Amino acid sequence: MKKIIATLLATIALSGCATTTKDSVSGVKRSQFMLLPASQITSMSAQAYQQTLKEATGKNTLNVDKAQLERVRTISNRLIAQVGVFRPDATKWAWEVNVEKNDQLNAYCMPGGKIMVLSGMMDKLHATDDELAAVIGHEISHALREHGRERMSQAYVQQFGLQALAAFVTKGAAGGAINQAAGMGSQLFFALPNSRLQEQEADRMGLELAARAGYNPDAAVTLWEKMSAMNKGAPPEFLSTHPASENRIADLKALAPKVRPLYEAAKAKQS
Ligand SMILES: [Zn+2]
Repeated sequence: MKKIIATLLATIALSGCATTTKDSVSGVKRSQFMLLPASQITSMSAQAYQQTLKEATGKNTLNVDKAQLERVRTISNRLIAQVGVFRPDATKWAWEVNVEKNDQLNAYCMPGGKIMVLSGMMDKLHATDDELAAVIGHEISHALREHGRERMSQAYVQQFGLQALAAFVTKGAAGGAINQAAGMGSQLFFALPNSRLQEQEADRMGLELAARAGYNPDAAVTLWEKMSAMNKGAPPEFLSTHPASENRIADLKALAPKVRPLYEAAKAKQS
């Protein structure tokens, strides 16, 4: 057993714990615990996304407002054009961007670049382009950092324990257990909340991504303020899946001056 654990730790040190993205102005460089293969997470997420699109089509809620869709796609594509700064491989992901008619204030980007923005962001929150870029940039950053895969890897260890993990390491993917984990895939993706650390990383990287795409970094702050203002009684969906920490706005405000030159350079290029 000692030998197995030693092998395990060595493997995690070599491949399990790595950082998914390149360090940049926003300073996100924590090393991550990754056990489940990225390819599996990506295909799982693609399937779940297709299913969501199918269901939304059936309910007549997919991309109903063409002008809104075009607006969201334009903003998203400008952000996606910048992802290579953090990870060059992501420029080749099969990115998809859609809008679902739904009053909730929410958006997500599933692993591998499957973006969905709920129309409440536009219809109810009246988010500006800069604010939409802040939300979408935040969600894209979760995907670039592979936070979903990280959460699922942690859940896998919690569910199946050290023995399964040791078997995984010594014999390769343990068929039964890993299929079970895969089966839980999309549910896990939505059920497991991002940790506070993951949220902070998505905030920071998202702020830089938006600035590089020519969106005003101050919008991340106004977005959170608008969200909080609407947060009377029941919290908006985005806040319940994205628990707001007290220092979230302070953190964004502190980073804004560092990414502002990137924003100004991008604006100068556009004009
Ligand atoms: Zn988040």
